[in-house]
Amino acid sequence: MATHTTKMLIIGSGPAGYSAAIYAARAMLEPIVVQGLQPGGQLTITTDVENYPGFRDVVQGPWLMEEMRSQAEHVGTRMIWDTIVSVDLESGSPFRALGDSGDEYIADCLVICTGAQAKWLGAPGEMALGGKGVSACATCDGFFYRGKRVAVIGGGNTAVEEALYLTNHSDNVTLIHRRDSLRAEKILQERLFANPKITVLWNKGVGSFEAGENGMLHHLALTDTVTGEASTLEVDGAFVAIGHAPATELFKGKLPMDESGYLLTEPGTPKTAIPGVFAAGDVTDHVYRQAVTAAGMGCMAALDGERYLAARAHAVQEAEAAE
Ligand code: NDP
Repeated sequence: MATHTTKMLIIGSGPAGYSAAIYAARAMLEPIVVQGLQPGGQLTITTDVENYPGFRDVVQGPWLMEEMRSQAEHVGTRMIWDTIVSVDLESGSPFRALGDSGDEYIADCLVICTGAQAKWLGAPGEMALGGKGVSACATCDGFFYRGKRVAVIGGGNTAVEEALYLTNHSDNVTLIHRRDSLRAEKILQERLFANPKITVLWNKGVGSFEAGENGMLHHLALTDTVTGEASTLEVDGAFVAIGHAPATELFKGKLPMDESGYLLTEPGTPKTAIPGVFAAGDVTDHVYRQAVTAAGMGCMAALDGERYLAARAHAVQEAEAAE
């Protein structure tokens, strides 16, 4: 068991964490990234990435994250394969965190980039067909279904927005919802119902995702949630949009969150309610949730962290000079 001391501890290793690390390392803050259970984050479970700027051709999610990790390390970040299991924010800076390994981390400032996870139905075929027709992000993958038949599962804002977005690529979009009314905002519902490319299937649960002979998604097995009647829907792509869960368990009761558990920050900044504690990426963003937006927020958090540390050092110097 070791104690690691750093000016900036970054918890989480998606685009937000790695970008924060790149900026912090280049500011000579010698950051530590504690990588967590899924080093590289959500992009390591996607395949083709076509919307991250800088690459004309499609790149693979795991490759992109490995490049970011390697860049962060190259400029001076220490990567530690551990998972933070508790944090002490109450006593202010320096903050203390404990890793699953038993190691202790002591940091002058903290950047939380623990991300969020898409919720899945848990239905047979859903995981096996990930990247082969099943996705949890229409903005990321919708483009691959140009002119094809697609379905979105869910009835909240995300599901409706994804269905509307998919009409940019497909004339055959089906929204599948388990009840007979949507929880999405009325304005989104109006747009949905007015769009001739979208059909809504009410009171339907997805029992399984079935592959065709080519190993790609072929159809969904549906069950009517009222009558129990079984049916199938042939689709090329299915987007599960039943919500996301931010990884904020660690911070319950310690940092302000919204009702869904996303960390609240000062608008337009990564600053949480505790000076020296910053949040970036999907852990604080339920609206955009893109690799590029997370990376941008990571950069902002590192810059604000650097300013926080500089101001603190300046205050200490002034106090010493006054003595
Ligand atoms: P929500 O929790 O709002 O909606 C989830 C939807 O998925 C619900 O319709 C729910 O059904 C359905 N669902 C949940 N579990 C299952 C399941 N096991 N089987 C079938 N269906 C299921 O999540 P969203 O991601 O839509 O939104 C999250 C938050 O982000 C919300 O606060 C939302 O308003 C916000 N948001 C805002 C946006 C904006 O302002 N532009 C855009 C996107 C999200 P049921 O209704 O029956 O419970």
